[in-house]
Amino acid sequence: MQERRTAAPAILAITALLVTGLAAAPATSAAEPNAARCRLPAATDDLGSGFPVDEQALPAVGTLRAAMVFVDFEDHPAPRGSLLKAEANLRSGVEYLEDLSGGELDIEVTGSDGWVRMPEPSTSYPFDRGLSYEDHVRYLGDAVRAADDGFDFSNTDVVWVVATEEAENISFSPTTNHLDVTADGNHLTHAVTFGYDQWRWGGLVLAHETGHTLGLPDLYLFEAPPDDPTNWHAAVGGWDLMGLISGQAPEYFAWQRWQLGWLADRQVVCAPARGSTTATLVPVAESTTTARPSADATLVLPLSATRAVVVENRQAIGYDREILTPGALVYTVDTSVRTGRGPIRVVDATPGSPDGLDDAAFRPGTSWTEPSTGAVLSFERARGDDLRVTVDPS
Ligand SMILES: [Zn+2]
Repeated sequence: MQERRTAAPAILAITALLVTGLAAAPATSAAEPNAARCRLPAATDDLGSGFPVDEQALPAVGTLRAAMVFVDFEDHPAPRGSLLKAEANLRSGVEYLEDLSGGELDIEVTGSDGWVRMPEPSTSYPFDRGLSYEDHVRYLGDAVRAADDGFDFSNTDVVWVVATEEAENISFSPTTNHLDVTADGNHLTHAVTFGYDQWRWGGLVLAHETGHTLGLPDLYLFEAPPDDPTNWHAAVGGWDLMGLISGQAPEYFAWQRWQLGWLADRQVVCAPARGSTTATLVPVAESTTTARPSADATLVLPLSATRAVVVENRQAIGYDREILTPGALVYTVDTSVRTGRGPIRVVDATPGSPDGLDDAAFRPGTSWTEPSTGAVLSFERARGDDLRVTVDPS
């Protein structure tokens, strides 16, 4: 994937490690699964899969106020009428985030009235030749200053800069959570710049990049595995938008929804170390705090202070409608693994199949044994599209 995130200088990226250990969780009986015990603490100094999300992240609950600045260049002026097309292409990303949040996140987008002319030609911004953090911040600062006369940034949480489709050399769409620009008295810290790849990915590139500003990691691999050197999707395939924007089933994992506050603790079944646990899981696409608020959304089996096995129900619903094999999707989460290194890895129900991870979900009537503990997870059909999952520790 061309998409990537520009990193802040190391000194800015270093954040204090969270030290709330599992021991801090309140005591629980084996018969009362306690979600807090499964809320694994973050153990990386970058975007990752632990709790809470990175301290630089914007809140995913409440109102997110986005300033959408459309920019063009003297060497690539935007054609007449192209503003509506650019706006429409990205709208589906806003809808995706609001849909998945189940009303927890409200995105208010304010667009610039027209195209804002950048002070430098497009070729001065090296998106297509090794863009650095400094280059990215210069581009963003130029865009904000060029727009500032006609735009009020005083309430902006995140800046979205959209380049004209004519400027193919503004080639990809990076995010920074470390912008340092002040406009209208507001210190702007979070930004995404949308480049030519938005026309290949469609509006979901906005949802992927905004996922980073909310604290989610990249789930594709920055380095493919040595035995499969071109498979950057070996960790989660097309099962989550943070892994593959054009994937067959791009709903966010239940784990990520929980990280963002889009699932409540009561919707998470945390399996105790002893005794068997059963959960009846609703499809992930129906897992919001409002759709079926008292139903189980996911089952978590903790393995250590930083690792857990997670089970969720994926069906041909919502953004998963193109799914190849509906069923119980099992994955491991490791909160000590940082963005792009595989903090989440899907367990393949059909290893070696020609469809890769696309048919990774377990069908009803099957089971899987977790190799490190010997715990057996069994999957059965329940009412409608619901699935019953049982964990039996060895
Ligand atoms: Zn990304």
